[in-house]
Amino acid sequence: MADTETKQPTQEKQTNCLTCNKPIRKKKKYYRNGKYYCSKKCYKTLLAKEAKKDESK
Ligand SMILES: [Zn+2]
Repeated sequence: MADTETKQPTQEKQTNCLTCNKPIRKKKKYYRNGKYYCSKKCYKTLLAKEAKKDESK
């Protein structure tokens, strides 16, 4: 038998805010569109960022 790597890629749960990259606390997490944010503010910040991306296309 080949000695292949049996390590499985550890699938990390999203525990940090996509916007500010801070760890999200359970009670404070804000869930939208399949992603977690630490607050509604961060969610909106990301939305604004993505809107800008679209503009620059
Ligand atoms: Zn955040």
